[in-house]
Amino acid sequence: MTDLRLFNSLTRKLEPFQPVHPGEARVYSCGPTVYNYQHIGNMRAYVFADTLGRTLQFKGYRLTHVINITDVGHLTSDADAGEDKMEKMAAQAGKSAWDIARFYQEDFERDLARLNVQKKAHPRATEYVEAMIEWGRKIAPKHCYELDSGLYFDVTTVADYGKLARAVTEDGEGRIETVEGKRNAADFAIWRKTPPGETRQMEWDSPWGRGAPGWHLECSVMGGALLGFPFDIHTGGIDHREIHHPNEIAQNQAYCCTNGLSDPQNSGAKIWMHNNFLVERSGKMSKSSGEFLRLQLLIDKGYHPLAYRMLCLQAHYRSELEFSWEGLQAALVRLKRLSRPIAELTSYAGNATPVAAEEFSDKLLQSFDESISQDLKTPQALTFFEALALNGAKSVLLNNPDYPEIVEAICAYRLRVLEEMDRVLGLDILGLSAEELRIRPKAATITEPEIEAILAQRKEARAAKDFATSDRLRDELAGQGVEVMDGDPLGWDWKLG
Ligand code: AMP
Ligand code: ZN
Repeated sequence: MTDLRLFNSLTRKLEPFQPVHPGEARVYSCGPTVYNYQHIGNMRAYVFADTLGRTLQFKGYRLTHVINITDVGHLTSDADAGEDKMEKMAAQAGKSAWDIARFYQEDFERDLARLNVQKKAHPRATEYVEAMIEWGRKIAPKHCYELDSGLYFDVTTVADYGKLARAVTEDGEGRIETVEGKRNAADFAIWRKTPPGETRQMEWDSPWGRGAPGWHLECSVMGGALLGFPFDIHTGGIDHREIHHPNEIAQNQAYCCTNGLSDPQNSGAKIWMHNNFLVERSGKMSKSSGEFLRLQLLIDKGYHPLAYRMLCLQAHYRSELEFSWEGLQAALVRLKRLSRPIAELTSYAGNATPVAAEEFSDKLLQSFDESISQDLKTPQALTFFEALALNGAKSVLLNNPDYPEIVEAICAYRLRVLEEMDRVLGLDILGLSAEELRIRPKAATITEPEIEAILAQRKEARAAKDFATSDRLRDELAGQGVEVMDGDPLGWDWKLG
């Protein structure tokens, strides 16, 4: 196996993965703020984190992976002042902030499952408030100061503040709304006091008054509590490289590691990784737009959710990825092309025991491993997976015309190698049928048996050279949104559009 190398945002270099604890990999990924649905851009972050986790497992490490749930105290921007997203949504919906958080967490977890994101630990910030207060107590004397609005972290008290962001004072901090009395523009809240005369649904007592924790604190506290410092890898979207993660690092330094960041593990994690954004030109990614791009919308329009995972894997995680419906359709077709040759392999393999090895498969597995080991080059890895899958049983049959048992055993071996590769990709390709991948919008009312029945009549008409009837049936289907695709090499037969 090739050594795994990953791009560390902290050093801006590719580095070999050397686990803190032999044989183990511990990963923390910043999770969602559950005041609304997630958009598909958010989901790119978790497909990336999951692919990383799967790669670590493929490499033989025992994985502990955390995605936290921010169910408290997150403001409408990276700022320390302003409206609280959760409270605002609760007020709009006429529900409690706790109910809102629970509802959107469940929706998030449903989307994760649809994208084959493996189960991870999902600690909630509200469950760690006591621990956050303890943490604040410990770092406050040397690193914090109190203002009327809360307890603030003085970023000049730790070495190398903002190293992760590189240009922190200009772009990064320009976005932070000013708070009266802060010593440095980049200082941030550890605790936010509830303003006098106000009450919040989510607030706690603390040595700095009643209020809620600052939003950077939860990730430091939950990461430390669940994974121990230093842990192996911390991930998030590239926006977090600018403010959230530098602040998390500063807190970690204050708590446990004081020294500078020339040794990356003083940041709390050995490697920091960031996925680039999914972008969309017309602004549909914004949660404030009417029809914003949720995974559910893709499904309602008839796309299998794993087509979206395929779309993500087609781009390297550090490249920006542009979303379009055409691109999604192409990703779906790419998935669909695999289903037929894989079904063929499965039928030839039967229940045969795989042979020990096949050079063709092994070479492709090795190339797959080399690609994925080079900072998760999924676009290349996919091509090796495809080279094996699309060959199906073809070359096996060609090379062994007179030996059916050998054909069976090699087909079984190919399936096993494909399964091994798919443990990393997470496309569930061995379990997906061509029918499941058919485009089927939610709004369509005609059922699949109805379509099949009309198609059967049409086949008869064509066999009898009754083209008038055949055309009439085709038009009838078209009227219901069913496009008949005669002679389609991919075997779609029909699609709903
Ligand atoms: P949030 O709930 O805003 O904290 O976002 C959850 C995760 O999604 C974070 O890791 C963000 O960095 C990431 N993220 C937000 N927008 C996008 C996007 N358009 N593309 C990729 N990742 C994103
Ligand atoms: Zn975080």
